[in-house]
Amino acid sequence: MRVFTDIDEWQVYRDTVQQRPLGFVPTMGALHQGHLALVDACRRQNATTVVSIFVNPAQFDDQGDLKAYPDHHEKDLKNLEDAAVDAVLLPSASQVYADNYRFRVSESEFSQQLCGAHRPGHFDGVLTVVMRLLNLVRPDNAYFGEKDYQQLQLIRDMAKAFFMPVNIVACETVREADGLAMSSRNQRLDKQQRETAAALYATLKQSRTARQARETLLEQGFQVDYVEDLADRRLAAARLGDTRLIDNVRI
Ligand code: AMP
Repeated sequence: MRVFTDIDEWQVYRDTVQQRPLGFVPTMGALHQGHLALVDACRRQNATTVVSIFVNPAQFDDQGDLKAYPDHHEKDLKNLEDAAVDAVLLPSASQVYADNYRFRVSESEFSQQLCGAHRPGHFDGVLTVVMRLLNLVRPDNAYFGEKDYQQLQLIRDMAKAFFMPVNIVACETVREADGLAMSSRNQRLDKQQRETAAALYATLKQSRTARQARETLLEQGFQVDYVEDLADRRLAAARLGDTRLIDNVRI
């Protein structure tokens, strides 16, 4: 497995890749089974698998959240090596944003709703980094989790809007045994919060309406950012202490 921290060196390597299709899994590290399921799908469907680890400062509307974001590079690299990944791109923010984020991708409708209504600038940060990474990696297929459903939808829409030559592949949410969607942020929950957290998934699935789900979550001690039904999905974001959890289910 080749690991690139320097973008210039990455680009030289990228020009030598001949085994196609090339699949790409962008991540922010602190990898868990959810990420590794994306890597697995990518490995099965592509001759070359590239993973990026980049904690994208542009998508953090809360600097405390960025500072607290877990950093487990050594363990991540070991997991990726075990998963037979071909190359890892681990670039610095100063190289990814050499323009000081002067240029960005901005979406004006869906990115303002749901999570976007509570996290100003978040999705512009996401779309901008995904655009930059896709331009750097030039994959045939790129893999994203349904756990971040609004993000997935916005990335699909962006790829279409800009005629980007990439196939966006969605992967199902991977959950803990009690239903909690796996997330790097789950590590921040204390024991009691961790027990409560499982109720998010159960409540979204079992409630008859979004409104009822919101009420049940409030009773269970969540601070609810939103619960909304959108087409065939029920999406929610709710906080336990300082930890913000998101999830969505098919309805
Ligand atoms: P992140 O490192 O949180 O930016 O996530 C990187 C990718 O992994 C995104 O496409 C996420 O949607 C996906 N992902 C994160 N958690 C899960 C999960 N529990 N199940 C499936 N995909 C996930």
